Amino acid sequence: MTTTITLVQGDITHQSADAIVNAANSSLLGGGGVDGAIHRRGGPEILAECRALRASRYGRGLPTGQAVATTAGRLDARWVIHTVGPVHQGPGSDPAPLASCYRESLRVADELGARTVAFPAVSTGVYRWPMDDAARIAVETVRSTPTAVEEVRFVLFDDRAYQAFARQL
Ligand code: ADP
Repeated sequence: MTTTITLVQGDITHQSADAIVNAANSSLLGGGGVDGAIHRRGGPEILAECRALRASRYGRGLPTGQAVATTAGRLDARWVIHTVGPVHQGPGSDPAPLASCYRESLRVADELGARTVAFPAVSTGVYRWPMDDAARIAVETVRSTPTAVEEVRFVLFDDRAYQAFARQL
């Protein structure tokens, strides 16, 4: 099965997809950016499940590069897949943890049986990963990861992000 990659400019919380990926932080307890928007629009159910994950599997937080799913509350999706991007450490930053976010999110999506998955540009906000490099890593990783997901949709918040991803495709 081939995976189609699509690009959309907009707010990921307005997307309908089987799964929406959250650029979470390791606490899983909410934050700014995409994370704040998902919890605001999705409602308290998502946060309650995140708290339960902290109390059970992830007492020390979700490690960078990993992914875990909850249901999606009031969002027009069945699941939210929370992944923790790396903070950019300047020139020469190791791309592996960022690639891992995309690979692990797709692995979780496959476990769930999700056919459409919407991703934000993980790590490009408060975690400061340069947009062009993040776009390259995102597109290359999705292209090279075997998955049953039929559509991967990158949802880019602004024109600059959209153009960066468009250049990679
Ligand atoms: P990180 O901590 O991984 O950097 P952020 O949420 O701060 O995560 O930012 C990741 C990217 O998501 C940034 O490019 C930011 O502009 C974008 N973004 C912020 N809010 C939304 C939203 N509601 N939908 C889609 N993208 C968003």
